[in-house]
Amino acid sequence: QSISAVLGGKLSDIWINSLRDLEKSGCGQVEISVGDRVFDVHASSNADSELMTVHVHDVTHHKAAALEAQRRAYLDSLTGLPTREVFQEHLTQTLALAKRGDRMTAVFIIGLDDFKLINETKGHAVGDKLLQTTAARLSRCLRTSDTVARLGGDEFAIIQPEPSCVDGIAQLAKRLNAALREPVSTPDGDIRPAASIGIAMFPTDAEDADELLHHADIALDRCKVEGGDGHRFFIAEMNAEVQRRRVLENDLRIAIEQEKLQLHYQPKLDLASGCITGMEALVRWIDPEHGFVSPVEFIPIAESSRLIIPLGDWVLREACKRTKAWNDAGLGPLKVAVNLSAVQFRHPTLLDDLSSALTETGLAPHLLELEITETAAMDNAEQASSVFAGISKLGISLAIDDFGTGYSSLSYLKNFPVHRIKIDKAFVDDIGQGPKGSAIARAVTTLGHSFDMEVTAEGVETAEQMVYLRGIQCHEVQGYLISKPLPPDDFSTFMEDFDTALYCPANTQTDFDWSAQRRKWQRGSVSDFKALA
Ligand code: C2E
Ligand code: MG
Ligand code: MG
Repeated sequence: QSISAVLGGKLSDIWINSLRDLEKSGCGQVEISVGDRVFDVHASSNADSELMTVHVHDVTHHKAAALEAQRRAYLDSLTGLPTREVFQEHLTQTLALAKRGDRMTAVFIIGLDDFKLINETKGHAVGDKLLQTTAARLSRCLRTSDTVARLGGDEFAIIQPEPSCVDGIAQLAKRLNAALREPVSTPDGDIRPAASIGIAMFPTDAEDADELLHHADIALDRCKVEGGDGHRFFIAEMNAEVQRRRVLENDLRIAIEQEKLQLHYQPKLDLASGCITGMEALVRWIDPEHGFVSPVEFIPIAESSRLIIPLGDWVLREACKRTKAWNDAGLGPLKVAVNLSAVQFRHPTLLDDLSSALTETGLAPHLLELEITETAAMDNAEQASSVFAGISKLGISLAIDDFGTGYSSLSYLKNFPVHRIKIDKAFVDDIGQGPKGSAIARAVTTLGHSFDMEVTAEGVETAEQMVYLRGIQCHEVQGYLISKPLPPDDFSTFMEDFDTALYCPANTQTDFDWSAQRRKWQRGSVSDFKALA
C-alpha cells in the first residue's frame, strides 16, 4: 500500500522530507504528525535491492490514550484540579522566580472542618460532592495567576505569587472562608461546611517549597484547633508548640491505652438545702515525664486526634461505675455530671455508648448528666436536635456548660430539652465587682427560671458569692469554696466529713473561716499536681 493511499492524498512536504532523511540513513523510525493524526514510520533497506521498506502505522488513538493517562496523573479525577505532585513542582518554579525577582509568595493550605465526620455520617457521595463544590468555589475566588490544587483528602492548596501585601493575603483568606461557608445542598438537606486555612509566606517563613508547605500545614492545624472556620498565618513559635503537641498526643494515646488517666470529682452544693447532691467528673492526666497536664491543654489535642472518643468512653464508664458504687454505699443519692466534647456529641455511636455505659454499670439514667458547651450544641442545629432528643429519651439530663461564653443564640433553649445551665466562672468572679458586676449572673439565673431549668454557678470561691447566688435563687454552686475536684478516695472522705450546717441557708455567716474549710480540701488540687511536675 502506498503511503499516499494511507494518507488518502498527495504526500506533503513533511512526509517527503522525513522519508528522505530515512532514506539517507538507510533505516530508522520517525513519528510524523499530520493535522490531528499521528503516524509511526519505520524504514528498513533491503540488502539485495535498492528498495526500502517503509511501515506506516496510524497511532493516533494510541497516542491520545497515552496523553489522557498522563493528564490523569497530573489532574485529580474527582475535582479536575492539579495533584500534589504538580503543585509541588509549580511551587518550586514559582519560588525560584520569586527568589530571582526578590518577591514574596504566599501558600495557603485549606482543610474542610469535620470532613471525616461528614463523610462518615452523610456518605461518600455527599463527601465527593462537597469536595467538588469546594474545588469550584476556590477556583472562583482566584486570579488567573494564582494556582489551586487538591493535595489529597479534604486538603487543597493555593499559590498566590506576588501578593500585594499581607493585608491582601488576609483579604483573600477571608473571601475563601466566606465562599466555603455557603450551604451545599444534598439529597437529605443542606450541609453547612466550613474550612480552616493555614498560610505561610516565602521568604519570611521558609526557604523552599517543602518547608513552606509544612509551615502552612502547621498554621492550618492551629486554625483547626482554635475552632476552624477562619485563617491563621504561620508564626515561628508554632513550631515548638507543634512539637509539644505531637509528643503529648503520642503520650496521651499511651496513657489512654494503659488506663493511666484519673477521674477527679468536684462536689456540687444544693443552695436550698446546703447538701451535696452531686459532683462533676473531671479528667486528670499526670504523666511521669510531663507532670500534671491540664485538661485545658490535652482535651483539644484529644479532640483533634479523635483520641477523645476512647478517652470520653473511659470517663463516662468510670464516672458511672464510681457513682453507682458510692450510691450503693449510701453516700448519695449523688448525680454525676460528665463533660462531653463536641466531637463526642456528634459521634454516630454516642447514644449506643451512653446506653451501654448505663446498662453495664447499673447506674440509673436520671443520675447521669452530660455537660456540653453552647458551641458544641449549636454546631449543627438539626443534628443536635435529634441527639438532644435521643439523650433525653434515655432519661439522661443535659446541662449547658460555660453558659454565656459561646454561641450567642438563645433559641435552642426553647427548642431543646436542656435541664441545666451553668454560669461560667467569669461571671461569678464579677459578683460584687461594682454595680454591673452581678448583672450577668443574675440575668442568666432569671433566664433559667423562666425556662424551668436548674442553674448552677461554677467557680464559686467566696462566701459572698455563695450568699449572693442563694439570694437570687440560683439552685446550685460548685467551686473551691466547697472543694476542689478530689480524687475518689478523698471525695468519699469529704462526703463523710461534710457539714451541711455550715452551708445551709440558716448559716448567714460570711465571716466564718472558710479558708480553713477550704484548706482541708486542697488535696488533689491543681497546684499540688503542678508541684509534682
Ligand atoms: P469545665 O467543665 O467548665 O470545668 C470546670 C473547671 O473549673 C475545672 O477545670 C475545675 O477544676 C475548675 N474549677 C472549678 N471550681 C473552680 C474554682 O472555684 N476556681 C477555679 N479557679 N477553678 C475552678 P479543669 O478540671 O481544669 O477542666 C477544665 C476543662 O476541661 C473543663 O471545664 C472541661 O471543659 C474540660 N474537661 C475536664 N474533664 C473533661 C472530660 O472528662 N471530658 C471532656 N470532654 N472535657 C473535660
Ligand atoms: Mg463542665
Ligand atoms: Mg464550665
